[in-house]
Amino acid sequence: MLDPVEIRRIVEARDAQVENDFGKDAQLAAIRQARGFLGDRLIRVAPVHRILDPEAGPLIAVRLHILTRKTLGGLHTDLQARVLDATGTPIDGLYAAGEAAGFGGGGMHGFNSLEGTFLGGCLFSGRVAGRAAAAAV
Ligand SMILES: Cc1cc2nc3c(=O)[nH]c(=O)nc-3n(C[C@H](O)[C@H](O)[C@H](O)COP(=O)(O)OP(=O)(O)OC[C@H]3O[C@@H](n4cnc5c(N)ncnc54)[C@H](O)[C@@H]3O)c2cc1C
Repeated sequence: MLDPVEIRRIVEARDAQVENDFGKDAQLAAIRQARGFLGDRLIRVAPVHRILDPEAGPLIAVRLHILTRKTLGGLHTDLQARVLDATGTPIDGLYAAGEAAGFGGGGMHGFNSLEGTFLGGCLFSGRVAGRAAAAAV
């Protein structure tokens, strides 16, 4: 169960940081930094404000369910989507694609985790894995 008194204490402490020019709140610093990027400022990151600012209300409670958005690690594969063992040797009959291969396709689509570059790599590596598996049988 949530403790309303403790929640209020945390929120008020955080709001005090909004007014503090020398504040070191990591989340507020991250918000300010994100808004330096035009794309985030326009559509994704709201300006820093006090949570208890009446203008920003009403407050709502949200139950969060944590999920993985991107994996930056996974099974090590080659460019035929074959899974490699610790020595770098393909494991017979084992293929991996998409997030399971890490970087949205084992890096076939590039090693940078740039926005929007995962889905294409997942689809592409899936096609590569399918073709390689079909060719092997
Ligand atoms: C919120 C969010 C936003 C995103 N935005 C973008 C974006 O803008 N651009 C972009 O390129 N990428 C984006 N991504 C990443 C992209 O969606 C994923 O990289 C991609 O969908 C992964 O595809 P996948 O087929 O590898 O894995 P998944 O889509 O996770 O598919 C794995 C499947 O395996 C199933 N499964 C799991 N375990 C088992 C089991 N034991 N037996 C049978 N089935 C099983 C699961 O149910 C699931 O259907 C985003 C991801 C999230 C979560």
